[in-house]
Amino acid sequence: MSDVLTNPLTRNVRSDRTPTDMLAYEANGGYRALKMTVGQRAPEDCLQIIQDSNLRGRGGAGFPTGLKWSFVPKEPTTPGPKYLICNADEMEPGTFKDRLLLECDPHQLIEGMILSAYTLQADVAYIFIRSEYLLAASLLRKAIADCRAKGYLGKNILGSGFDLEMHVHASAGRYICGEETALISSLEGKRANPRAKPPFPQVSGLWGRPTIVNNVETLCNIHHILERGADWFQSLGNGEDAGTKLYGVSGRVKRPGCWELPIGTTVREILEEHAGGMEDGFTMRGFLPGGGSTDFLTPEHLDVPMDYGSIGKVGSRMGTGTMIILDDKTCPIGFIHNLTKFFAQESCGFCTPCRDGLPWSAQVLESLELGDGRPEDLDTLAYQVEYIGAIGNTHCALAPGAMEPVQSALKYFREDFEAHIEQGCCPYAEGTH
Ligand code: SF4
Repeated sequence: MSDVLTNPLTRNVRSDRTPTDMLAYEANGGYRALKMTVGQRAPEDCLQIIQDSNLRGRGGAGFPTGLKWSFVPKEPTTPGPKYLICNADEMEPGTFKDRLLLECDPHQLIEGMILSAYTLQADVAYIFIRSEYLLAASLLRKAIADCRAKGYLGKNILGSGFDLEMHVHASAGRYICGEETALISSLEGKRANPRAKPPFPQVSGLWGRPTIVNNVETLCNIHHILERGADWFQSLGNGEDAGTKLYGVSGRVKRPGCWELPIGTTVREILEEHAGGMEDGFTMRGFLPGGGSTDFLTPEHLDVPMDYGSIGKVGSRMGTGTMIILDDKTCPIGFIHNLTKFFAQESCGFCTPCRDGLPWSAQVLESLELGDGRPEDLDTLAYQVEYIGAIGNTHCALAPGAMEPVQSALKYFREDFEAHIEQGCCPYAEGTH
């Protein structure tokens, strides 16, 4: 297979990261899927291909994309528009994979969105983008204007009778906007609070209309699948999941970065072959496999495939697929204190266990990190994990996600907590946390 087939998402990513413009994108086969699909194939046939491909959402939850789309009513009971939203609010700590796609190949996302909207028969598409991604936002606006000029967006696309408007909307900059219903609230101009489900956005989302929210990487896969087929996509994966995945590594490794690899590549291959292994003088103690809100795994898990099922079986989540490495010279308590402070700050404040519980956890962790902790603080943390971390005790998954690093640190690094208490100081004080 050529690179075009095995690395579809990054085939246009250049080593100097200069963006691929419309001319270069089309020269490399771009918008071919659009021309062979819009007005040429029935939307329901496209949906069937996406369902058959077994594409799972790449934003973190891993929900099957085709199944999610199938919940959109074909003929809503009341007339009005349907919406497609691209979630480009990449704020998960340690995650930078969507940025690569947005900055290096903006047309890929736009072609994927046009074809997704066609499949869903959506009328308007929004790219809800993290406010700090200024370069990506400006590249997307230019790409949208180029598409409009070529007749790929707007009224009667390629003479098909299908109309689609597309807009870029900069986020106000809150982590909770990555939660799809909070994102919708924000896009409506309201405070970014998550909404109760049901009704799910597929039925009642933006302004009460059927709405699909998908991650950047998910949508970038769509036109490749529609062009090459479900079997091709399934063949790209190494294990039970289909396609490729953008994996990333940050921390004390020789070559931190982001790579497109078959989904199901082992942690060891990602870490040792692609990230170059640990920096000299550093040993890995653990890693968060999918961003800041996933449970720690340890070196005993290096041979686990990075796919949704395998990572779940060993007690964590694949999340965004971007690993954060904890090394032996960094204080684990300081590491999770830093994350917990972030999540406490990003709580939307709607429900008490999250609004008041996360700052309490951060306070306990700070006290332990500084050497002011008491043995009973470990019981307090265990209680917080149990109470704040339980699905259903809070209105959305932010608080349970925030407790995942704490819960797994108590499991794997308990001796570090005890050493801080016994010594009355941080044993890593000369380290690099
Ligand atoms: Fe808001 Fe946190 Fe409650 Fe989610 S869990 S609704 S972020 S307060």
